[in-house]
Amino acid sequence: MVAIFHMPIKCYILSPHWFCSGVKRAVSMAEQVCKLYGGFYIIEDVIHNRMFMNDLWKCGVVKVASIDEIPDNAVVMFSSHGVAPRIVAKAEEKGLTIIDGTCPVIKAVQCDAVKETNLGKKLIIIGDRAHAEVIALIGCADKSSNVFVVSNETDVELLPDFDGVAVTYFTQTTLDWAHVKMIIEKLKEKIPHVESLSPDNVCRATRERQDVVRKIAGSMDLVVVIGSAHSSNARRLYEIALSSGAGNAVLVDSKNEFDSSILTGVNTMAMTSSASTSEFVIQEFIEYLTSTFGVVTEDFSLNNDNDG
Ligand code: SF4
Repeated sequence: MVAIFHMPIKCYILSPHWFCSGVKRAVSMAEQVCKLYGGFYIIEDVIHNRMFMNDLWKCGVVKVASIDEIPDNAVVMFSSHGVAPRIVAKAEEKGLTIIDGTCPVIKAVQCDAVKETNLGKKLIIIGDRAHAEVIALIGCADKSSNVFVVSNETDVELLPDFDGVAVTYFTQTTLDWAHVKMIIEKLKEKIPHVESLSPDNVCRATRERQDVVRKIAGSMDLVVVIGSAHSSNARRLYEIALSSGAGNAVLVDSKNEFDSSILTGVNTMAMTSSASTSEFVIQEFIEYLTSTFGVVTEDFSLNNDNDG
């Protein structure tokens, strides 16, 4: 009788995979404010992570549709994605105690957008019109007719030519930077005089996660992205894994949503996470894979990739 040995599944744990600095800051602020005030109001999730938000609801955090619904003199926390200047002004008018969780990277982009607006320039935002960060950035323009949002090359085609009009572009921080680069090229073809204060605003935390997924996905049977479906950077990682040649990819909040039947036939897999997934959730997932399926893990980052 011939013995059949099954090789254990090899899982590469991609780095970086922990909270980015902006999320870490917002999470720490929210936890401290919960302890101090026993809850507060929000108009947008502090971070785009379902598990973390579930903990906040338990601590008494209340989400409202608009700042008008918050009682005067209450505590409001702005999310890591920021809010438009008029929301800040309204919160101040109402005497609210403001906890500003806006990521400093996003804050800097917003300040630049306000400056450019004050110089009389039109704004083009490359991003997802429905995303909180883009909504806040739109609000940095003095009026909505001075701001244009594009999310793909077709949208760029539909823009006016801005003849004789100064125009500056900004980008959402969590997009696929390779895609952003293509849109910017198209934008410069269409509007040669378009300006920008930096080549793009895709942040380092986003870029580094994407680069490592892009590098390894093509040799993986499966890429697991731990994050919430409404997290922009989680969705981008999932899409990049598939477009870079992974045999399969899945986006899940935690081990509890993971359908293990997807491991059938898998020899090599990689695991990454959005910038808003906690290290605890990641470690719990790794522990589940190793103890239940005998998965063997190995850390992988572009720094320890020696194949030149
Ligand atoms: S992903 Fe980047 S821009 Fe977004 S919160 Fe994190 S550091 Fe800030």
